Amino acid sequence: MKIAVIEKNHIVTQEVETLNLDDKKGAIVKVLGCGLCGSDIVKFREHISKDGTVLGHEIVAQIEEINSESPFKKGDKIVTSHHIPCGKCNYCKHGNVSMCEHFKSTNIRPGGFSEYVYLSEEHLLNVAHHMPENLTEMEASFYEPLGCCVRAVRRANLMPQSKVLVVGLGSIGILMSQALNAFGMQVTGCDLIQERIDILNNLGINAFNSGALPAKREYDSVFLTAGADKALDTALANIRNGGTILVFASTPHNSGFPNNEIYYRELTVLGSYSPSPADLKESLYLLKTEKVKVKNLSTVYKLDDIQKAFDDTINNKIIKAYIKIKD
Ligand SMILES: [Zn+2]
Ligand SMILES: [Zn+2]
Repeated sequence: MKIAVIEKNHIVTQEVETLNLDDKKGAIVKVLGCGLCGSDIVKFREHISKDGTVLGHEIVAQIEEINSESPFKKGDKIVTSHHIPCGKCNYCKHGNVSMCEHFKSTNIRPGGFSEYVYLSEEHLLNVAHHMPENLTEMEASFYEPLGCCVRAVRRANLMPQSKVLVVGLGSIGILMSQALNAFGMQVTGCDLIQERIDILNNLGINAFNSGALPAKREYDSVFLTAGADKALDTALANIRNGGTILVFASTPHNSGFPNNEIYYRELTVLGSYSPSPADLKESLYLLKTEKVKVKNLSTVYKLDDIQKAFDDTINNKIIKAYIKIKD
């Protein structure tokens, strides 16, 4: 089978032995396609993942071989996520499921940018779902990234009709704005790239150039979905006193919010990282009912052209890359 691996600062494809189930529990799935996540870009660009790593986790797949107590059978098309919380540790008990050791250690093997993937029984029982029939494979691949957004919205714990500013309208910002909207918030988006502002406006959500915001400290909450240091200033200039800043992006210089600003203005700054099984379920519902629209958001690449998908994403030429692996 063909896989795409990191090799000396490039992503290259290579042939390896095809997986089989033997007598293991779980399933071998044929990967139909896999979205390219911002976290894959960071792992590649910052050399966090070593050579030989297969990135990718936003998969849509078809079951090829299965030995499972789950409701799935051979031939079913599914979506799945990659991590599963244990449900028993101190993190899990407090709702911090994405910090759970088990969560971090579970994964799809070898990774989504591969013709076949092994899913454990735990994956099938907890985070896999049938692909909704009204969605295309590419649309369904937003299951995991939208799950991340659902988690962020839930963690912010906002009152209905709260005024929320989303800073950064890449694919996550566009999903986040729509998720907030679906949860009943009054959403405004901002970015520096006009094409992205247009996308949100076309979805019926107000969006502006970040430079044109009046900075009147009028938002109950600001969601940071831009991996830029400047975004922190935008957040502080626009959040109202007592408001909540939700951090959903790493920034190049890893700088922080000033202590005294947090103290005197009674700000809440909280992070949100990766979704729980319940967040993922909600994500699938939002996609299926088109409360979150993802049509035409992705650009399609073949597995052999995956390097170009990475380059185009890094150079902001596209919103989101979808690697189509099987027809
Ligand atoms: Zn992702
Ligand atoms: Zn746990």
